[in-house]
Amino acid sequence: MDIVDQTQERIERLALCEQRFGRARPKPEAPQATGYCLFCGDPLADMRRWCSALCRDEWEHLDALLRRRGV
Ligand SMILES: [Zn+2]
Repeated sequence: MDIVDQTQERIERLALCEQRFGRARPKPEAPQATGYCLFCGDPLADMRRWCSALCRDEWEHLDALLRRRGV
């Protein structure tokens, strides 16, 4: 898979997250815990915001990317 496909897939996953959770992100740098991973949507037992450091990093990367694009 090339990098463009990977990025497209990530954008689609984030769009899915936003559909599910709405755009209720008062501070993008400090999103609220929803009980679900903010990136992949996996249910979380505690009030963490991501299921893993990888999801957090990917989410931050995508969030910055989407904001640069004005989405
Ligand atoms: Zn996750």
